[in-house]
Amino acid sequence: MEIKIGLEIHVELKTKSKMFCSCKNEYGGEPNTRICPVCLGEPGTLPSPNEEAIKKSILLCLALNSEINKVSIFTRKNYFYPDLPKGYQITQYKASIGEGGYLEIDNKKILIDRVNIEEETAKSIYTEKGEVLLDFNRCGIPLLEIVTKPFISSISEALTFLKELRKLLRYLDISECDMEKGMYRVDSNISIPPNERVELKNLNSLKAFQEALSYEIERQKEILKRGEKIKRETRLWDEFKKETRIMRIKEEELDYRY
Ligand SMILES: [Zn+2]
Repeated sequence: MEIKIGLEIHVELKTKSKMFCSCKNEYGGEPNTRICPVCLGEPGTLPSPNEEAIKKSILLCLALNSEINKVSIFTRKNYFYPDLPKGYQITQYKASIGEGGYLEIDNKKILIDRVNIEEETAKSIYTEKGEVLLDFNRCGIPLLEIVTKPFISSISEALTFLKELRKLLRYLDISECDMEKGMYRVDSNISIPPNERVELKNLNSLKAFQEALSYEIERQKEILKRGEKIKRETRLWDEFKKETRIMRIKEEELDYRY
């Protein structure tokens, strides 16, 4: 049975300062101490792009054989979330830093769709009491979003790609890619053509990635065996129950008023 996998990888860049301000880009530290009016998005502040982050992004685009856009545009993606109280994330939508390209693994070209530069949101910490604590030290850290075309044909191929990409990012000193610290994060979509695709989130390690995709392929096969249709939806991987569960049903692209 044919399967198709697409990947969306978020990588925190290793730079001295954040993407649009001079706050330190460093993991950890006393919560909410590496913040300023710019990364908090206070009214009247002017974000100014980080040259080092742009150079590192271009370096990755070159390594991935992507076309580098001569004009690249930052856009506001509008939505509210507790880790994004300013109400928008600065990202790229119409003119990414890099478009197209590929990474060759085992004599096969894994095609890249685009490479976007964006900013991190704050970090949510869930306590045993059921509270959500927010650490804004993370907000504004430069982030690269690498999106592949959905043509990866097996889990092992996807895993090889993820490992090779990580190796490349480390070798070029673009990112430390420490998955435990959330510096290298993977979302995936998976389908059994010609059926609808399902998006998978919360894949926090390569092991979780492998387990979640294996589970999802079996789940989709079972649905098709019963003669039912696969719904286009976003599902979360539950590391403890070892299953995916529904997060939201995707009807249309959410209106982010880019
Ligand atoms: Zn700042």
